[in-house]
Amino acid sequence: MVVGVSAMSGLDAFEQLESCVRSYIRSWPTVFERAQAAKLWDEDGREYLDFFSGAGGLNYGHNHESMIDALVDYLRSQGVLHSLDMATTAKREFLERFDKVILRPRGMSYRVQFPGPTGTNAVEASLKLARKVTGRQDIVSFTNAFHGMTLGSLALSGNVVKRESAGVPLEHHATAPFDGELGPSVDTIAVLDDMLTGGEISAAAVIVETIQGEGGLHAAGFDWLRRLSECCRRHEVLLMVDDIQAGCGRSGSFFSFEPAGIEPDIVCLSKSISGSGLPMALTLIRPELDIWGPGEHNGTFRGNNAAFVTATEALDFWQDDRLAREVQRKSDIVRTELEAIASEHESTRATVRGRGLLIGLHSPLDGLASQVCRAAFERGLLLETSGGAASDVIKLMPPLTIDDEDLERGLAILRESVAAVAP
Ligand SMILES: *Cc1c(COP(=O)(O)O)cnc(C)c1O
Repeated sequence: MVVGVSAMSGLDAFEQLESCVRSYIRSWPTVFERAQAAKLWDEDGREYLDFFSGAGGLNYGHNHESMIDALVDYLRSQGVLHSLDMATTAKREFLERFDKVILRPRGMSYRVQFPGPTGTNAVEASLKLARKVTGRQDIVSFTNAFHGMTLGSLALSGNVVKRESAGVPLEHHATAPFDGELGPSVDTIAVLDDMLTGGEISAAAVIVETIQGEGGLHAAGFDWLRRLSECCRRHEVLLMVDDIQAGCGRSGSFFSFEPAGIEPDIVCLSKSISGSGLPMALTLIRPELDIWGPGEHNGTFRGNNAAFVTATEALDFWQDDRLAREVQRKSDIVRTELEAIASEHESTRATVRGRGLLIGLHSPLDGLASQVCRAAFERGLLLETSGGAASDVIKLMPPLTIDDEDLERGLAILRESVAAVAP
């Protein structure tokens, strides 16, 4: 029993009461109080620019006015908050709007499964369904992949430290090399093709992130994705795209795989699907694969109506191609600036990685990316690293809706931060 904790201030409460597992608080040791659009303020009133966006959970920035208005109206009107998977008005509005704004204009027909509130729930549901559909057990994922922290998803992870946290063998899984992993002269689809031909694994599905959000911002080429899709078809293996981080506009189109023209069998969405940062996830299933029995996969929080309300509102951004064009324009600004920073600081041996507004600088210098992020925090910019255990990529993930002034200011802070720590 801890006595006298009521007088704790600042970070003491977290240090004394919260588990050691806490992590982002260690990168950004301050207590945040308020947030709006691309900015956060801590309890001392200090302002921070947010180039992290909740790891992709806040593509439209913090507390977007129309979403907050819709949510407050819903709460004040005694809207149902919790409903398992009962029918509610809020859920119907989301389903109809998602079909109208996202699926139909793209000629897509997917059934929508609400698998539980987090990204890993969407992945777990996909894995179970792929195994049920094919009667096979193994799932192929790629080097440096990240698909979530529960055991099924964790088995697909390329991060050794995270895998070890499981404490049990992670089975029914095989790793294939991602696009470019074996150097420019090795065709990694041919390697996958051999794996699927060899008979050593009984693959139900291949799961891929088109841009590896946690695993170092490696971006798959569109031709590589098309050949991946053909390879899966040839072997009658399902293709699942984990669009949890790269989706909802982050890459420049609503789904990250759109420019490749592929049609995955299953798509996982979460992070920014609610638009507001409220927990929500979707598993999109090609209709002929939707062989679930009622309740065969369920969960208590599949009716997060508050999230449905803001998710419906967020889809307003996708009624035309304005946001997509904005992401492309801002991505070009960021890429040009990153290239300039890299060429000004040749000693960092930095190169640009990623696509859309999931973009960053890789440096092979040990610890450099973390030092840059620390220097950026001291200057009022939230930036995280990517790249698994090596953490060798400075990842830029501003809200897609950030205004040019904030974008330029964040890039200027990044430039100063690199200058401050570059050898
Ligand atoms: C964040 C993430 C997940 C896991 O989502 P959680 O909500 O943290 O469970 C899975 N896949 C990708 C690509 C992610 O970025």
